[in-house]
Amino acid sequence: MEVSTNQIFNFNAGPAMLPAPVMQIAQEEFLNYRNSGMSVMEMSHRGGYFQEILDRSLINIRKLLNIPDSYEVIFCSGGATAQFTSIPMNLLDENETAAYSLTGVWSNKAYQEAKRFYPNVVSIFDGKLSNFSEIPELTDLSIPKNSKYAYITSNNTIYGTRYSRFPKLSIPLIADMTSDILSRELDVSSFGVIFAGAQKNIGPSGLSICIIRKDLLHERKSAIPVILDWRVTAKAGSLYNTPPTYSIYMAGLVFEWLLEMGGLSSIEKINEKKASLVYNALDESEFYRTFVPQANRSIMNVVFHLKDSNLDSKFVEESEKYGLIGLKGYRDVGGMRASIYNAMPLEGVERLVSFLKDFEKRWA
Ligand SMILES: *Cc1c(COP(=O)(O)O)cnc(C)c1O
Repeated sequence: MEVSTNQIFNFNAGPAMLPAPVMQIAQEEFLNYRNSGMSVMEMSHRGGYFQEILDRSLINIRKLLNIPDSYEVIFCSGGATAQFTSIPMNLLDENETAAYSLTGVWSNKAYQEAKRFYPNVVSIFDGKLSNFSEIPELTDLSIPKNSKYAYITSNNTIYGTRYSRFPKLSIPLIADMTSDILSRELDVSSFGVIFAGAQKNIGPSGLSICIIRKDLLHERKSAIPVILDWRVTAKAGSLYNTPPTYSIYMAGLVFEWLLEMGGLSSIEKINEKKASLVYNALDESEFYRTFVPQANRSIMNVVFHLKDSNLDSKFVEESEKYGLIGLKGYRDVGGMRASIYNAMPLEGVERLVSFLKDFEKRWA
């Protein structure tokens, strides 16, 4: 069955779709931002218009996450990956150690990067033993006493798992929240540092946002490349060098969109509903499978397989005709992945569920 509509739903993992109302405002303001006669892309990052955009977006992310005054919020560039280097460099001195929980591809990358510069960092959990379907209880792990921080990826974009709880640890907990920041309510005070690349739930790629407990911004013994030094960025109000100005503007529009709909408690309810529609459809079927145990299931990235993988390419081909883009799974995992971030409307998920049923009817 072909769907006669020009509305395409984009299930890509990232860069991912942005909210339609946000794209609309960006389009309206594109050539002439609020009678400035300029596009935001053309403005000086030191001028009044941009300063106001930057200030407003920082105020709004603080509101959304209810970030205490004891935390600094900065915009950085280089995406989430730059933070894989920034984190150990800002938090460790030579020969010091930190504990990494390896629940997926991204935490492994962060660990490998830290290890290049700080060979004493250790892994405290290896998800490989469960094909990355397990998420540990952080309080059960044995964290070496001298660890300066514990590191996790809150939501595993590729394997479709997530931590559902974040206990207060005695050392700073550092979390890569690239694929689930702003998707659920959060107690920021459980963390030392939260960071996220923007391209999944915030805005365009290249930008990242870091929320850092202020006491962690202290002097280091060794030098850090200036662009990776959180203290330098914080002191300059995220304007040490030219930041990704347009991406910050877009992020600001996304924050306003979230606030208008009632903040994180509202979007969390919608996200729970969207995810349960997809998981229910998968659980009811003998034709599809998901290997992630109920308790660990991501509500942002739903990873599933067709029982008969010979049908994978047929599934992808037909889903595209149905107006559903980006369902092919990550290359090393295979199968399918539906990324249903904040911007994915309920309607897109309903279309996906109806396609799942329709495809099964015809090919089971
Ligand atoms: C996508 C992703 C990254 C990589 O982000 P870049 O901005 O490309 O560096 C890192 N961590 C997680 C959890 C991701 O989902």
